[in-house]
Amino acid sequence: MTDPLHTAETASAGGPYPAPAGFVEKAPLERYVPPQKPSLVGLSREELAAALDTIGVPAAQRKMRVQQLWHWLYVRGASGFDEMTSVSKELRALLDAHFTLARPQVVAEQTSVDGTRKWLLRLPGERAGEAPHEVECVYIPEPDRGTLCLSSQVGCTLTCSFCHTGTQRLVRNLTAGEIVGQIMVARDRLADWTDRGKGRDVRLVSNIVMMGMGEPLYNFEAVRDALLVAADGEGIAISKRRITLSTSGVVPNIARAGAEIGCMLAVSLHAVRDDLRDKLVPLNRKYPIAELLEGCRHYPGLSNARRITFEYVMLKGVNDSAADAKALVKLLKGIPAKINLIPFNPWPGTRYECSDWEQIEKFSEIIFNAGYASPVRTPRGRDILAACGQLKSATEKLSARERLALRAMAMTD
Ligand code: SAH
Ligand code: SF4
Repeated sequence: MTDPLHTAETASAGGPYPAPAGFVEKAPLERYVPPQKPSLVGLSREELAAALDTIGVPAAQRKMRVQQLWHWLYVRGASGFDEMTSVSKELRALLDAHFTLARPQVVAEQTSVDGTRKWLLRLPGERAGEAPHEVECVYIPEPDRGTLCLSSQVGCTLTCSFCHTGTQRLVRNLTAGEIVGQIMVARDRLADWTDRGKGRDVRLVSNIVMMGMGEPLYNFEAVRDALLVAADGEGIAISKRRITLSTSGVVPNIARAGAEIGCMLAVSLHAVRDDLRDKLVPLNRKYPIAELLEGCRHYPGLSNARRITFEYVMLKGVNDSAADAKALVKLLKGIPAKINLIPFNPWPGTRYECSDWEQIEKFSEIIFNAGYASPVRTPRGRDILAACGQLKSATEKLSARERLALRAMAMTD
């Protein structure tokens, strides 16, 4: 497996994108130490074959055994080797002696009145006895899809000023197994394996977004390996068109994501001017807006049917003026784009407020009239997601906005 702390970004430090003076990033503090008996969840086929090699499975059998394991793990959702009835008893015992099929431990599960489900997962720390780390994973059901929002890191090395994750000191990259493990947990908890009996197109988890904790392009290899497992047509089989990776703008890894993962891309833009984006998304000092958009223009496979989603968090009096909306439209000219307006989700101690609903409407109307779909990302699971209470008055007014968003989506998607 790749070193979870190694990314192309750290490898290229001092390369074409040296960090400007005064740019502060937190270094990952924690390192993953694999358990004595490792889980097979999240391994690629090659890594599975290598694991079988270590326990003496003959080379001639390995490909077939990998195929069996893949099916039991990712189509049937097996959580123990004893379920694998097509595998000989001897091999099952041997596998059980050396490996597990463990997923991250679920420490809390919450279900919202709108069906949104959130799982708090516990991951091991670096040393025995050390406080474990926690990440969350959220499932959002909609009439035509079910979206699972995955975390890529515990905390985040970046420090976006409006983001609660950015304030957390502790950072650890998740392994590919821990990222795939989130999908396994969701399918386990939703009873979303083939024993639903109706084939894969009716699976509840139909889409994945890398929009939970962490910056996925700062944990590139693990995220790539996990998403390739998720997209494998003989396993979890979520098409790359239904997988979206959200980045705050790690420019050198955007092209890599296109070439090595091939999933859909979302970019957290949030501002149309560098001076403001420097404050909201400090990574902008390293990769300013013009470079970021240049990277987006070259994203492989871009077309009107495969657009980049630009995320824009609505911050009252900060980035939400009509002039900002007009500048946004101008800035994205020529890029096949969707714009996703996100009502700011306040958290204790933040200096920002969510824009007034009228202002979001105005902003959205300008973008809509310029020919973009501008759906406001409907805040979901408010009753279970932290720190949402303060937006309650905005929620009440949401339905008019939702109708507009639906109209926009119907016209352009
Ligand atoms: N690190 C990646 C992905 C995780 S954050 C990124 O930044 O893109 C997913 C999205 O949520 C990003 O667009 C991020 O800017 C946004 N976000 C973070 N904190 C938020 C908050 N308090 N309210 C609304 N959106 C927020
Ligand atoms: Fe939060 Fe994403 Fe910024 Fe990290 S990169 S601090 S997760 S918004």
